[in-house]
Amino acid sequence: MSLVLRVDGDRWRAHLRQVAAGEPGLVPVAKGNGYGFTVGRLARKAAWLGVDTLAVGIYDELDSVAHRFDGDLLVLTPWRPHGDAEGVDAAISSRVIHTVSRLEDLGALLAREPQARFVLERTTSMLRHGMSAAELRSAGQELAGRDGPHRLEGVALHLPLAAGSHLPEVERLLTDVVSAGLPRPAGTVVWVSHLTGDELGRLRAAYPDFTFRPRIGTDLWLGDRTALRATATVLDVHAVDRGDVFGYRGRTVPRAGHLLVVSGGTAHGIGLEAPLGDASVKGRAATFVRGGLDAVGFVRSPFTVDGKQRLFAEPPHMQASMLFLPSGARVPDVGDEVDVRVRYTATAFDGVEVS
Ligand SMILES: *Cc1c(COP(=O)(O)O)cnc(C)c1O
Repeated sequence: MSLVLRVDGDRWRAHLRQVAAGEPGLVPVAKGNGYGFTVGRLARKAAWLGVDTLAVGIYDELDSVAHRFDGDLLVLTPWRPHGDAEGVDAAISSRVIHTVSRLEDLGALLAREPQARFVLERTTSMLRHGMSAAELRSAGQELAGRDGPHRLEGVALHLPLAAGSHLPEVERLLTDVVSAGLPRPAGTVVWVSHLTGDELGRLRAAYPDFTFRPRIGTDLWLGDRTALRATATVLDVHAVDRGDVFGYRGRTVPRAGHLLVVSGGTAHGIGLEAPLGDASVKGRAATFVRGGLDAVGFVRSPFTVDGKQRLFAEPPHMQASMLFLPSGARVPDVGDEVDVRVRYTATAFDGVEVS
């Protein structure tokens, strides 16, 4: 296999269980590349955890989760009249919870799907999606005047990754929720992101009438990094001398060593890393005098070989990368695995292996 996400299954599952036990009302988030694991695998894990609701990012992701997880499915991207919600399979529409982030969309959604289930999103300091306090009040009035098969499921708040405490902001937003006069009990269910366990604890104590439902992705799936490892495979090894020509651009090797061809390239999301060490002109001049490889334009790669993060011999190719291994380092064999440092949310792995 080529670029693989290796998961220590016992450790990972223990972490998932621990988060679920500590977060009542947890709503796991499975979106995008599934945080590296694929959305489908996360749906099965959510089923295994026994939660009642799973969140996906976009309507298109519903098909990958609906047959692996049989609870409710919250779509985080707001519903729009011209949007992808049209394509939702009728067989699962009663499990889908829409996010309504504009007053005008509330009427439009209910006109199209009178039995729709939905949360109303209130804007936060993120200013991504959502209604103002006044719009939320208007939504409350609209719902109060409308009987019907539709089901309000609560209010959604998408909070930033806070540098400080979220509490003052959440308290202000909860005041808006209260004054919106939404039908109860749904009007007291608040779906939140990025609150710490301590913040949630304080909110639950201060607002005992409210139910807080934390939507968590990163801290759940990627919360125990020691359970995770990304590996690439050595595909080829070439001994080279100073002056040998290689690569797409006919560069020359600056000194003796080995060129390694490893799996993992731009198609996987492998990119150039920041230049090594001191990037100042003076610093680079000093490295040049010492004969540093970054001075000849080699850039740090995310691949670790023989205990060290190695340099790209040239920018990553589509599915493979060429590294330079200076002489003296232990040379791996073709077929060996090497560690790669990647952003799990931005990497398209060829496979996931859970032990
Ligand atoms: C992605 C997302 C989350 C989960 O974010 P993490 O940082 O991965 O926990 C929660 N809520 C919304 C609206 C999101 O888009």
